[in-house]
Amino acid sequence: MSFTPGYIGPPEIFENAFCFLFQGQELLAKKQDDGYLIPQFRDLQELDRSPEPLHYIGSLDGRPCYAGEMAAAILPPKTFVLKKVRSLFEHLEEPLIGVAGLANQLVLWDRNHRFCGRCGLETEDKTNERAKVCPGCGLISYPRLSPAMIVAVVRGDRLLLAHSPRFPGEFYSVLAGFVEPGETLEECIRREIAEEVGIEVKNIRYFGSQPWPFPDSLMIAFTAEYSKGEITADPAEIVDAGWFSADNLPPVPPKISIARRLIDWFTENTGKRGRS
Ligand SMILES: [Zn+2]
Repeated sequence: MSFTPGYIGPPEIFENAFCFLFQGQELLAKKQDDGYLIPQFRDLQELDRSPEPLHYIGSLDGRPCYAGEMAAAILPPKTFVLKKVRSLFEHLEEPLIGVAGLANQLVLWDRNHRFCGRCGLETEDKTNERAKVCPGCGLISYPRLSPAMIVAVVRGDRLLLAHSPRFPGEFYSVLAGFVEPGETLEECIRREIAEEVGIEVKNIRYFGSQPWPFPDSLMIAFTAEYSKGEITADPAEIVDAGWFSADNLPPVPPKISIARRLIDWFTENTGKRGRS
């Protein structure tokens, strides 16, 4: 399945269109055996009243996808559940997870930009791109993206991993941080690593990227080599940090994240080095 983003949908909503409906931070899902499905437009007839207007967000293998909000007063029938998108990761196929994240991000953006940030007038949807425009002063607002870097720092046959108080659960991961205005990605990497664990790195190389719409990040992943210094964790950011070999890793993040792809890259590479 492949997703094509878009902002102009067909003239009428198809019965089998995917509908990503949010109530607050939770996504409406339909129960199916022991898993969940994204509701189709025809399923919404089971709700006791209509949701807010739906926004077209693109198509998944030709099937239109919509995002929208559901008033708090709507109580879904027992065949539905309301769940955080992240808790549905293991129940949905990969493209649907990405679209659910995008829907989450666009619904929040829509909610937060109903009025112009400059003059306070009610905004309108722009017709030729995904943006809102103020009819009074002309200010255009696009969905916000917050770039964040994430980096696997390798020292010989060991990988730097840390546990942050922000992590849900016990796992350890590679370091990450938001890019600040005026900073290059490389400067961000050096600053974050110095701030969080007090070491220096060299040979920074691009690895890949992943949209992370919780609420609006784009994760840009790198690998780097240890240069100098000893780990001194910033207690506000890091509970524990250390160098781990591939055969002695602590619990790590789930497969869906680019953090895990970096860790798997390290494991596969040190494995190969060990065999050769
Ligand atoms: Zn305005």
